[in-house]
Amino acid sequence: MPERTLRVCALYPDLMNIYADRGNLTVFERRCAWRGIGFELAGAGIGDAIDPDAHDLFYIGGGQDRDQALCARDLASVKRDALHAAAARGAVVFAVCGGLQLLGDGYELGDERLPGVGLVDLDTRREDGPRLLGNIAIALDLPGGPETLAGFENHAGRTYLGAGAEPLGRVLEGNGNNGHDGTEGVRGGPQGTVIGTYMHGPLLPKNTRFADWLTATALGVEPDELAPLDDALETAAHAEAARAAGL
Ligand code: GLN
Repeated sequence: MPERTLRVCALYPDLMNIYADRGNLTVFERRCAWRGIGFELAGAGIGDAIDPDAHDLFYIGGGQDRDQALCARDLASVKRDALHAAAARGAVVFAVCGGLQLLGDGYELGDERLPGVGLVDLDTRREDGPRLLGNIAIALDLPGGPETLAGFENHAGRTYLGAGAEPLGRVLEGNGNNGHDGTEGVRGGPQGTVIGTYMHGPLLPKNTRFADWLTATALGVEPDELAPLDDALETAAHAEAARAAGL
């Protein structure tokens, strides 16, 4: 039996998982297996209650507007209290794109306003203008984490952080939260473990140090306590990107 187990709960795995976001879960599973860390994956769909203490990491992938509309009310009612309790004890809530858009106050879609789960101070709205689409790179400052992330974004909604919210990183290339203010994603919650990003990619295969930061944070250990794996290719790619960006 492994000494430790990463217990992941994917929220709305059938509705919120576009652009290979499901691949992020495979990265958690593989890297745990390679290290001899146990891995459990549960799913919670619409109407399912969640136990805040039964999981170390809650995952919400991206989704089309119509799928988000199905999930938003459930997230903000059935799952709200449990997610707040989980974030308060330091569990990771990791949300990609459509998931990020539901982490805050709400998502304004024309005449309709979808509620958010209120874990962080942000708001999202549709605006005139093109979809924010293409490759994206950001610089970030996570203790024990990577300096850069590379991914792919494709969203019509624009997200604006409130005064009480910090971005996950700063845009080096691409659009980020809204195409205007240079912010990308969010990091917040009582323990700084609520993480949202617009980056698909899939994100974690391209950014293995970020996968490890999320895993370590969810397990309550420092990233350098995880056994090293052979990430020579990923490390070289990120070093080249950082050099090109003048970091
Ligand atoms: N439906 C949202 C938007 O278009 C999010 C899309 C996504 O998750 N890629 O803004």
